[in-house]
Amino acid sequence: MKQIPKIPRKVILLNQDIKIVSANKYCNERHILGEADVNHNSIKLCSIYDKENVPFHKQRHALFHELTHFLFFVIGQSRHSRNEMFVDNLATAMEDLILKNNFDKTLK
Ligand SMILES: [Zn+2]
Repeated sequence: MKQIPKIPRKVILLNQDIKIVSANKYCNERHILGEADVNHNSIKLCSIYDKENVPFHKQRHALFHELTHFLFFVIGQSRHSRNEMFVDNLATAMEDLILKNNFDKTLK
């Protein structure tokens, strides 16, 4: 039986525990699908936007996007974190790299 994909509740990046929280009201009020809170190690994500379900692949991409913001902040490159196009392109590349390769099976 194939498992239904789901957004994790916690991610570890650069030795930081990052909590992933569902925040539909918060995100809809701000017209965003996600937001990284680097001061509190959390990422808010939206699964319902404008009264419709957000497709899983869009939620997953929002997670990678927010993790990329987080990454730049943690490594002291906040100015890169403010460049949305750069963040989104790198997030797309990392998402693609991880999804197209079975690292959990090949690199362990
Ligand atoms: Zn962003």
